[in-house]
Amino acid sequence: MTRTMNFNPGPSSIPLAVLKEAQEEFLDFKGSGMSVLEVSHRSPEYDAVHEETQALLKSLLGVGDDYQVLFLGGGASSQFAMIPMNFLGQGQVADYVNTGTWSNKAIKEANLLGKANVAASTEDGGFTRVPTAEECTFTKGAAYVHITSNNTIKGTQWHQFPEVDAPLIADMSSDILWRKFDASKFAMIYAGAQKNLGPSGVTVIVIRKDFVETAADGIPTMLSYKTHLKKNSLFNTPPCFPIYMVNKTLNWIEGQGGLEVVEANNRKKGDLLYQTIDANPDFFRAPVAKDSRSYMNVVFRLPTEELEAAFVAGGKERKMNGLKGHRSVGGIRFSVYNAIPMEWIEAVTAYMTEFAKANG
Ligand SMILES: *Cc1c(COP(=O)(O)O)cnc(C)c1O
Repeated sequence: MTRTMNFNPGPSSIPLAVLKEAQEEFLDFKGSGMSVLEVSHRSPEYDAVHEETQALLKSLLGVGDDYQVLFLGGGASSQFAMIPMNFLGQGQVADYVNTGTWSNKAIKEANLLGKANVAASTEDGGFTRVPTAEECTFTKGAAYVHITSNNTIKGTQWHQFPEVDAPLIADMSSDILWRKFDASKFAMIYAGAQKNLGPSGVTVIVIRKDFVETAADGIPTMLSYKTHLKKNSLFNTPPCFPIYMVNKTLNWIEGQGGLEVVEANNRKKGDLLYQTIDANPDFFRAPVAKDSRSYMNVVFRLPTEELEAAFVAGGKERKMNGLKGHRSVGGIRFSVYNAIPMEWIEAVTAYMTEFAKANG
C-alpha cells in the first residue's frame, strides 16, 4: 500500500506510527482479551488512558493542576453554545473577535443566549488577516473574550495573542499544539480533535478550575462545565476510542521531542510552501497578509479556476488528496497539521513549481 498524502482540513492525517500502534492493539487492549472499543469506561484499563491523556496534555501545554482537561462530545461547534450558556450572564456582554466563518458561528450562538459584542472584525478585508492589537476594542468588565486562534478556511492565524483583562477563551480546533505558547493566559482552550489531535468524536477542553466555578447554575446537566469538571468527564460515557487515539497522538508528539521540535518542523513546512508561492508571483497568489499567514492551512489561488481544477486533478494522480479550498472561498488549500511529514511538503512544492512552469 502506498499511503495517500492527505491534506484534508479535518478529519485529517494521523501519524502512521499512531495508526499502526492502534492496529497492533486493536483486538487485545492491554491484555484484556477485548478491543479498546469494547472495554468499559469504568475499567482500570480505560481509566489509565483517560488519566494519562489529561496529564500529557497538561504537560505539553505547561499548565498545572489549576486547569482541568475535559473530553466532551458534540464537536467544537457545541462549545459555541455551551460557552455563553455557562459564562454569559444576564446583563453581561461577551467580547468576540470575528476572524471568519468559525468565529461567526460562535457569535451567532452567543447572541441566541445573550449579548455578544464584536470587539474587532476583519470582515471588511475579506478576513485575509487577523486584527492588530490597536484594532481591538474590548469591553470593560466583559464576561470573557473569545478568539479563534487559527482560521481554517481563510488560512489566517494569530501569531501574537491579544492582551485582555477578561477571561480569554480560544477556539484552537485547527492549531492546538502546533507550537509552544503561554497557555496560562487562557481561561479556556477548546479544540475538536479531528484536526491536530486525532480522529473526530471528541472535543478537548482545557479550562481553569476557578473559571468553571463562575459558571451559571441551573443549566441542563450535560451542558454544564461544572458537571464534567466534577465527574472528570465521566458523568456519562465519554468518547473512549477517540480519547485513546488522542492519547497515542500526544505520545507521538512527545516522542518527536515535544512542542519545540513539532514547531520547528511546522515552520519548515509552512515556510517552504509560502516560499514556493512567493517564488512564482505571476502564477500563485496568496490572499492572506504576510503577518497573518497560517502555518496550518496554507491557501492560495492560481490564475484561473480551470487551472485550479487541473491542479487538483493532477494532484490526485500523484496521490495528493484534499487540495481543494473550502467551498465558500474556492482556490487551493493545503492543511498541513502536525502529522504531515516534510516529505509530503517537498513532493507538493515540487509539483507546484512544475505545474507553474508548464502552465505559466
Ligand atoms: C473545524 C472547526 C470547527 C468545527 O469543529 P467540529 O468539531 O466539527 O464542530 C470549529 N472551529 C474551528 C476553528 C474549526 O477549524
